[in-house]
Amino acid sequence: MRYGHRPGRDKRVTTHTALVARAFGANGFILGDVVDEGVYRVFRKVLDYWGGDLVFEMGVDSAKYCVNWRKNGGVVVHLTMYGIHIDDVIDEIRSLNKDILVVIGAKKVPRFFYEIADYNVAIGHQPHSEIAALAVFLDRLYGGRELHFKFPGAKLEIIPSKSGKRIKRTPL
Ligand code: SAM
Repeated sequence: MRYGHRPGRDKRVTTHTALVARAFGANGFILGDVVDEGVYRVFRKVLDYWGGDLVFEMGVDSAKYCVNWRKNGGVVVHLTMYGIHIDDVIDEIRSLNKDILVVIGAKKVPRFFYEIADYNVAIGHQPHSEIAALAVFLDRLYGGRELHFKFPGAKLEIIPSKSGKRIKRTPL
């Protein structure tokens, strides 16, 4: 879940977080509190061509979403440089075997999210990027397996190549 998206300035970064969520194995992407059709359009287009059946929600109340997620038995992980180092919690989080709501910020994240989170997790304790933080978190969660996932319904598939670009196209 992306918190704090500002349509005027975050479109590209938020779109990239959605694409990273998909490519690194998330089951859905939630744009909290705002509706941004531009982000959805790009995401939808990538799903149409490259496959995947992720859930996409936007305009939901981020705070309520977290509360309900926990009520329904899920765990909330907030990515923040102030949290516990990922190396010290990732095995525990994985072993819970629960649905995980990963919260990433844009603008200043209110205290509420630090408190509702079951885990405040730092991808190192330096300030960097929500895109990088999400990618590293998911990669550690899956132990790298996610980079081999196949996406159902893909019309385009890369054929790995030492040089040039090779793409397998499934006729529409
Ligand atoms: N200025 C904002 C604040 O003080 O909360 C944070 C801006 S930061 C560019 C945007 C998001 O990137 C953060 O909310 C957090 O989710 C993520 N992030 C950046 N560095 C991180 C780190 N070292 N570990 C985990 N998440 C990080």
